[in-house]
Amino acid sequence: MIDIKSLTIDELTEYLLTIGEKKFRAGQIYEWLHRRKITDFEEMTNLSKDLRNKLKENCILTTLSTITVQESRLDGTRKYLFGLDDGNAVESVFMRYHHGNSVCVSSQVGCRMGCKFCASTLDGLERNLTSAEILDQVYSIERDTGERVSNLVIMGTGEPMDNYDNVIKFVKILSSENGLNISRRNITISTCGIVPGIMKLAEENMPVTLALSLHSTTDEKRKLLMPIAYKYSLEEVIPACKYYFEKTGRRVTFEYALVEGVNDRFEDADELSVIANAVEAHVNLIPVNPIKERDFKSTGANAVRAFQARLEKKKVAATVRREMGRDIDGACGQLRRKMRDSQ
Ligand code: SAH
Repeated sequence: MIDIKSLTIDELTEYLLTIGEKKFRAGQIYEWLHRRKITDFEEMTNLSKDLRNKLKENCILTTLSTITVQESRLDGTRKYLFGLDDGNAVESVFMRYHHGNSVCVSSQVGCRMGCKFCASTLDGLERNLTSAEILDQVYSIERDTGERVSNLVIMGTGEPMDNYDNVIKFVKILSSENGLNISRRNITISTCGIVPGIMKLAEENMPVTLALSLHSTTDEKRKLLMPIAYKYSLEEVIPACKYYFEKTGRRVTFEYALVEGVNDRFEDADELSVIANAVEAHVNLIPVNPIKERDFKSTGANAVRAFQARLEKKKVAATVRREMGRDIDGACGQLRRKMRDSQ
Protein backbone atom coordinates (compact mmCIF):
# COMPACT_ATOMS: atom_id res chain seq x y z
CA MET A 1 0.00 0.00 0.00
CA ILE A 2 1.13 3.53 -0.80
CA ASP A 3 1.18 6.01 2.09
CA ILE A 4 -0.21 8.75 -0.14
CA LYS A 5 -0.15 11.56 2.43
CA SER A 6 3.59 11.12 2.94
CA LEU A 7 4.36 11.81 -0.74
CA THR A 8 5.79 15.12 -1.93
CA ILE A 9 4.18 16.60 -5.02
CA ASP A 10 6.96 15.16 -7.20
CA GLU A 11 6.57 11.69 -5.71
CA LEU A 12 2.80 11.89 -6.10
CA THR A 13 3.15 12.91 -9.75
CA GLU A 14 5.48 10.00 -10.38
CA TYR A 15 3.09 7.58 -8.70
CA LEU A 16 0.11 8.78 -10.73
CA LEU A 17 2.05 8.42 -13.96
CA THR A 18 2.92 4.82 -13.07
CA ILE A 19 -0.78 3.98 -12.67
CA GLY A 20 -1.59 5.59 -16.01
CA GLU A 21 -3.08 8.86 -14.79
CA LYS A 22 -2.47 12.36 -16.12
CA LYS A 23 0.07 14.57 -14.46
CA PHE A 24 -2.41 17.33 -13.53
CA ARG A 25 -4.25 14.93 -11.24
CA ALA A 26 -1.33 15.16 -8.85
CA GLY A 27 -2.03 18.84 -8.17
CA GLN A 28 -5.72 18.13 -7.56
CA ILE A 29 -5.09 15.22 -5.20
CA TYR A 30 -2.30 17.03 -3.37
CA GLU A 31 -4.61 19.94 -2.71
CA TRP A 32 -7.33 17.69 -1.33
CA LEU A 33 -4.82 16.03 0.97
CA HIS A 34 -2.73 18.96 2.16
CA ARG A 35 -4.84 22.08 1.78
CA ARG A 36 -8.36 20.85 2.31
CA LYS A 37 -7.16 18.20 4.76
CA ILE A 38 -9.80 15.67 3.72
CA THR A 39 -10.06 12.35 5.57
CA ASP A 40 -11.79 10.18 2.94
CA PHE A 41 -11.05 9.60 -0.75
CA GLU A 42 -14.80 10.04 -1.44
CA GLU A 43 -14.39 13.74 -0.71
CA MET A 44 -12.19 14.15 -3.79
CA THR A 45 -15.19 15.15 -5.88
CA ASN A 46 -13.32 16.36 -8.97
CA LEU A 47 -11.88 12.89 -9.57
CA SER A 48 -13.70 10.13 -11.44
CA LYS A 49 -15.24 7.37 -9.40
CA ASP A 50 -12.87 5.03 -11.11
CA LEU A 51 -9.78 6.92 -9.94
CA ARG A 52 -11.15 7.29 -6.41
CA ASN A 53 -11.63 3.53 -6.27
CA LYS A 54 -8.14 2.93 -7.59
CA LEU A 55 -6.71 5.15 -4.86
CA LYS A 56 -8.80 3.44 -2.22
CA GLU A 57 -7.51 0.04 -3.28
CA ASN A 58 -3.86 0.98 -3.44
CA CYS A 59 -3.31 3.76 -0.91
CA ILE A 60 -3.73 4.40 2.76
CA LEU A 61 -5.01 7.79 3.82
CA THR A 62 -3.41 8.29 7.23
CA THR A 63 -5.79 10.05 9.59
CA LEU A 64 -5.29 10.29 13.32
CA SER A 65 -8.09 9.72 15.78
CA THR A 66 -8.53 12.12 18.66
CA ILE A 67 -8.39 10.24 21.95
CA THR A 68 -8.55 13.23 24.31
CA VAL A 69 -8.32 17.02 24.18
CA GLN A 70 -7.62 19.11 27.25
CA GLU A 71 -8.09 22.87 27.09
CA SER A 72 -6.42 25.26 29.49
CA ARG A 73 -8.74 27.68 31.22
CA LEU A 74 -5.77 30.00 31.72
CA ASP A 75 -4.67 30.61 28.15
CA GLY A 76 -6.68 28.43 25.73
CA THR A 77 -3.78 26.04 25.10
CA ARG A 78 -5.10 22.71 23.85
CA LYS A 79 -3.27 19.46 24.42
CA TYR A 80 -4.20 16.56 22.17
CA LEU A 81 -3.65 12.86 22.50
CA PHE A 82 -3.94 11.30 19.04
CA GLY A 83 -4.39 7.62 18.24
CA LEU A 84 -2.41 5.95 15.43
CA ASP A 85 -3.57 3.01 13.33
CA ASP A 86 -1.40 0.51 15.22
CA GLY A 87 -2.81 1.45 18.64
CA ASN A 88 0.02 3.77 19.63
CA ALA A 89 -0.65 7.34 20.73
CA VAL A 90 1.18 10.65 20.38
CA GLU A 91 0.80 14.10 21.92
CA SER A 92 0.56 17.47 20.22
CA VAL A 93 -0.08 20.94 21.62
CA PHE A 94 -1.90 23.97 20.17
CA MET A 95 -0.92 27.36 21.58
CA ARG A 96 -2.30 30.82 20.85
CA TYR A 97 0.22 33.66 20.79
CA HIS A 98 -0.27 37.27 19.74
CA HIS A 99 1.80 36.56 16.61
CA GLY A 100 -0.36 33.59 15.58
CA ASN A 101 -1.20 30.02 16.44
CA SER A 102 1.58 27.57 17.09
CA VAL A 103 1.57 23.77 17.12
CA CYS A 104 4.10 21.51 18.79
CA VAL A 105 4.28 18.09 17.09
CA SER A 106 5.81 14.75 18.05
CA SER A 107 8.23 13.12 15.62
CA GLN A 108 8.47 9.63 17.15
CA VAL A 109 6.50 7.30 19.41
CA GLY A 110 8.73 7.40 22.47
CA CYS A 111 12.39 8.37 22.22
CA ARG A 112 15.75 6.69 22.71
CA MET A 113 17.79 9.72 23.74
CA GLY A 114 17.30 9.14 27.45
CA CYS A 115 17.39 12.74 28.75
CA LYS A 116 17.00 12.44 32.49
CA PHE A 117 14.37 15.14 32.99
CA CYS A 118 12.12 14.07 30.11
CA ALA A 119 9.03 11.86 30.41
CA SER A 120 8.93 10.92 26.70
CA THR A 121 12.02 8.77 26.89
CA LEU A 122 11.32 6.71 30.00
CA ASP A 123 10.32 3.62 27.99
CA GLY A 124 12.62 4.13 25.03
CA LEU A 125 11.70 4.33 21.38
CA GLU A 126 8.67 2.50 20.06
CA ARG A 127 8.91 3.59 16.42
CA ASN A 128 9.35 6.51 14.03
CA LEU A 129 6.32 8.45 12.86
CA THR A 130 5.67 8.66 9.12
CA SER A 131 5.55 12.10 7.49
CA ALA A 132 1.78 11.67 7.18
CA GLU A 133 1.44 10.98 10.90
CA ILE A 134 3.35 14.16 11.73
CA LEU A 135 1.34 16.17 9.19
CA ASP A 136 -1.99 14.92 10.41
CA GLN A 137 -1.26 16.21 13.91
CA VAL A 138 -1.38 19.69 12.39
CA TYR A 139 -4.30 18.94 10.07
CA SER A 140 -6.37 17.39 12.87
CA ILE A 141 -5.78 20.47 15.01
CA GLU A 142 -6.80 22.84 12.18
CA ARG A 143 -9.90 20.72 11.54
CA ASP A 144 -10.76 20.72 15.24
CA THR A 145 -10.19 24.39 16.03
CA GLY A 146 -11.17 25.82 12.65
CA GLU A 147 -8.17 28.10 13.06
CA ARG A 148 -5.09 28.50 10.94
CA VAL A 149 -1.71 27.41 12.25
CA SER A 150 1.16 29.76 11.37
CA ASN A 151 4.04 28.47 13.49
CA LEU A 152 5.32 25.03 14.11
CA VAL A 153 7.82 23.54 16.51
CA ILE A 154 9.07 19.95 16.39
CA MET A 155 9.48 19.77 20.13
CA GLY A 156 7.02 17.08 21.12
CA THR A 157 8.01 13.51 21.85
CA GLY A 158 10.97 12.19 19.87
CA GLU A 159 14.29 13.29 18.44
CA PRO A 160 13.72 14.71 14.94
CA MET A 161 17.31 13.97 13.84
CA ASP A 162 16.69 10.30 14.69
CA ASN A 163 13.83 10.28 12.14
CA TYR A 164 15.54 12.62 9.72
CA ASP A 165 14.07 11.73 6.33
CA ASN A 166 10.44 11.66 7.47
CA VAL A 167 10.88 14.96 9.32
CA ILE A 168 12.42 16.68 6.28
CA LYS A 169 9.62 15.45 4.06
CA PHE A 170 7.11 16.64 6.64
CA VAL A 171 8.65 20.15 6.53
CA LYS A 172 8.66 20.15 2.73
CA ILE A 173 5.00 19.20 2.49
CA LEU A 174 3.87 21.52 5.30
CA SER A 175 5.62 24.49 3.74
CA SER A 176 4.63 23.72 0.14
CA GLU A 177 2.57 26.21 -1.83
CA ASN A 178 -0.27 23.78 -2.46
CA GLY A 179 -0.23 22.62 1.13
CA LEU A 180 -0.69 24.71 4.28
CA ASN A 181 2.15 26.90 3.01
CA ILE A 182 3.57 27.52 6.47
CA SER A 183 6.72 29.60 6.11
CA ARG A 184 9.91 27.66 6.75
CA ARG A 185 11.08 30.58 8.86
CA ASN A 186 8.21 29.80 11.21
CA ILE A 187 9.25 26.17 11.64
CA THR A 188 11.66 25.12 14.40
CA ILE A 189 13.48 21.80 14.58
CA SER A 190 14.75 21.05 18.06
CA THR A 191 17.56 18.55 18.62
CA CYS A 192 19.42 17.20 21.62
CA GLY A 193 22.62 17.68 19.59
CA ILE A 194 23.09 15.00 16.92
CA VAL A 195 25.96 16.53 14.99
CA PRO A 196 25.62 14.72 11.62
CA GLY A 197 21.92 15.69 11.57
CA ILE A 198 22.71 19.36 12.19
CA MET A 199 25.33 19.34 9.43
CA LYS A 200 22.97 17.64 7.01
CA LEU A 201 20.16 20.08 7.80
CA ALA A 202 22.51 22.98 7.08
CA GLU A 203 22.85 21.66 3.53
CA GLU A 204 19.11 21.27 2.87
CA ASN A 205 18.66 24.83 1.67
CA MET A 206 15.70 25.04 3.99
CA PRO A 207 15.81 28.10 6.27
CA VAL A 208 14.12 26.58 9.30
CA THR A 209 15.12 27.59 12.82
CA LEU A 210 17.42 25.19 14.58
CA ALA A 211 17.06 24.83 18.33
CA LEU A 212 19.71 23.04 20.33
CA SER A 213 18.78 21.57 23.69
CA LEU A 214 21.93 22.66 25.45
CA HIS A 215 20.95 22.62 29.13
CA SER A 216 24.56 22.67 30.39
CA THR A 217 27.73 24.50 29.52
CA THR A 218 30.19 21.66 30.14
CA ASP A 219 30.25 18.08 28.86
CA GLU A 220 30.71 16.82 32.37
CA LYS A 221 27.44 18.33 33.56
CA ARG A 222 25.65 17.72 30.32
CA LYS A 223 26.37 14.00 30.61
CA LEU A 224 24.47 13.93 33.87
CA LEU A 225 21.33 15.20 32.14
CA MET A 226 21.70 14.02 28.55
CA PRO A 227 23.32 10.71 27.56
CA ILE A 228 23.82 12.02 23.98
CA ALA A 229 26.64 14.14 25.45
CA TYR A 230 28.73 10.94 25.66
CA LYS A 231 28.47 10.63 21.90
CA TYR A 232 28.87 14.25 20.77
CA SER A 233 30.89 16.68 22.85
CA LEU A 234 30.19 20.38 23.00
CA GLU A 235 33.40 20.85 21.06
CA GLU A 236 31.60 19.24 18.13
CA VAL A 237 28.04 20.41 18.78
CA ILE A 238 28.73 24.13 19.16
CA PRO A 239 30.76 24.46 15.91
CA ALA A 240 27.99 22.54 14.13
CA CYS A 241 25.50 25.18 15.34
CA LYS A 242 27.82 27.92 14.22
CA TYR A 243 28.09 26.29 10.82
CA TYR A 244 24.30 26.11 10.63
CA PHE A 245 24.04 29.84 11.34
CA GLU A 246 26.71 30.74 8.80
CA LYS A 247 25.24 28.53 6.12
CA THR A 248 21.57 29.48 6.55
CA GLY A 249 21.75 32.94 8.11
CA ARG A 250 19.26 31.73 10.70
CA ARG A 251 20.09 32.43 14.30
CA VAL A 252 20.19 29.28 16.39
CA THR A 253 18.22 29.00 19.62
CA PHE A 254 19.80 27.40 22.68
CA GLU A 255 17.23 25.84 24.92
CA TYR A 256 18.28 25.78 28.51
CA ALA A 257 16.09 24.07 31.10
CA LEU A 258 16.87 25.47 34.51
CA VAL A 259 17.19 22.82 37.19
CA GLU A 260 17.62 24.01 40.74
CA GLY A 261 21.11 23.47 42.05
CA VAL A 262 22.29 21.77 38.85
CA ASN A 263 22.79 24.43 36.17
CA ASP A 264 21.30 27.66 37.52
CA ARG A 265 24.23 29.43 39.18
CA PHE A 266 25.56 32.77 37.94
CA GLU A 267 28.76 30.97 36.85
CA ASP A 268 26.57 28.84 34.59
CA ALA A 269 25.01 31.99 33.13
CA ASP A 270 28.44 33.45 32.51
CA GLU A 271 29.68 30.28 30.77
CA LEU A 272 26.46 30.15 28.78
CA SER A 273 26.93 33.74 27.65
CA VAL A 274 30.37 32.92 26.25
CA ILE A 275 29.00 30.03 24.17
CA ALA A 276 25.90 31.96 23.06
CA ASN A 277 27.92 35.00 22.00
CA ALA A 278 30.34 32.83 20.02
CA VAL A 279 27.44 31.50 17.95
CA GLU A 280 25.24 34.64 18.15
CA ALA A 281 22.58 32.34 19.50
CA HIS A 282 19.41 33.33 21.22
CA VAL A 283 18.79 31.65 24.59
CA ASN A 284 15.41 30.31 25.62
CA LEU A 285 15.22 29.59 29.33
CA ILE A 286 12.77 26.92 30.43
CA PRO A 287 12.04 26.37 34.11
CA VAL A 288 12.27 22.56 34.15
CA ASN A 289 8.90 20.89 34.30
CA PRO A 290 9.24 18.29 37.08
CA ILE A 291 8.19 14.73 36.25
CA LYS A 292 7.08 12.37 38.96
CA GLU A 293 9.63 9.69 38.01
CA ARG A 294 12.61 11.96 38.82
CA ASP A 295 13.27 14.50 41.52
CA PHE A 296 14.52 17.47 39.52
CA LYS A 297 13.29 20.75 40.91
CA SER A 298 12.58 23.84 38.91
CA THR A 299 14.50 27.02 39.56
CA GLY A 300 12.19 29.57 41.20
CA ALA A 301 10.72 32.45 39.20
CA ASN A 302 12.92 35.12 40.78
CA ALA A 303 16.10 33.15 40.22
CA VAL A 304 15.05 32.54 36.61
CA ARG A 305 14.67 36.28 36.08
CA ALA A 306 18.04 36.92 37.71
CA PHE A 307 19.65 34.30 35.44
CA GLN A 308 18.07 35.98 32.43
CA ALA A 309 19.26 39.43 33.56
CA ARG A 310 22.77 38.08 33.98
CA LEU A 311 22.73 36.81 30.39
CA GLU A 312 21.36 40.10 29.11
CA LYS A 313 24.09 41.98 30.91
CA LYS A 314 26.52 39.94 28.83
CA LYS A 315 24.64 40.97 25.68
CA VAL A 316 22.87 37.69 25.13
CA ALA A 317 19.29 37.79 23.83
CA ALA A 318 17.49 35.65 26.38
CA THR A 319 13.81 34.92 26.81
CA VAL A 320 11.99 32.88 29.39
CA ARG A 321 9.59 30.40 27.89
CA ARG A 322 6.06 31.30 28.85
CA GLU A 323 4.47 28.40 30.60
CA MET A 324 1.41 27.54 28.61
CA GLY A 325 -1.36 25.27 29.76
CA ARG A 326 0.10 24.90 33.25
CA ASP A 327 -3.27 23.63 34.47
CA ILE A 328 -3.80 20.88 31.88
CA ASP A 329 -0.72 18.75 32.11
CA GLY A 330 2.87 18.60 33.12
CA ALA A 331 5.93 17.89 31.05
CA CYS A 332 6.14 16.48 27.56
CA GLY A 333 5.13 12.88 27.23
CA GLN A 334 3.13 12.79 30.43
CA LEU A 335 -0.26 12.58 28.79
CA ARG A 336 0.63 9.47 26.81
CA ARG A 337 2.06 7.80 29.90
CA LYS A 338 -0.99 8.69 31.91
CA MET A 339 -3.29 7.11 29.33
CA ARG A 340 -1.20 3.97 29.15
CA ASP A 341 -0.87 3.63 32.92
CA SER A 342 -4.63 3.87 33.34
CA GLN A 343 -5.31 1.02 30.94
N1 SAH B 1 14.48 15.64 21.09
C1 SAH B 1 14.43 17.02 20.77
C2 SAH B 1 13.02 17.61 20.70
C3 SAH B 1 12.02 17.18 21.73
S1 SAH B 1 12.24 17.78 23.36
C4 SAH B 1 15.30 17.82 21.71
O1 SAH B 1 15.92 17.23 22.59
O2 SAH B 1 15.45 19.02 21.53
C5 SAH B 1 11.83 19.49 23.30
C6 SAH B 1 12.46 20.30 24.39
O3 SAH B 1 11.83 20.07 25.66
C7 SAH B 1 13.93 20.01 24.59
O4 SAH B 1 14.66 21.19 24.78
C8 SAH B 1 13.91 19.18 25.87
O5 SAH B 1 15.17 19.17 26.46
C9 SAH B 1 12.83 19.87 26.64
N2 SAH B 1 12.26 19.11 27.76
C10 SAH B 1 11.99 17.80 27.84
N3 SAH B 1 11.47 17.48 29.04
C11 SAH B 1 11.43 18.63 29.74
C12 SAH B 1 11.01 18.96 31.05
N4 SAH B 1 10.56 18.03 31.90
N5 SAH B 1 11.12 20.25 31.43
C13 SAH B 1 11.57 21.20 30.57
N6 SAH B 1 11.98 20.95 29.34
C14 SAH B 1 11.92 19.68 28.92
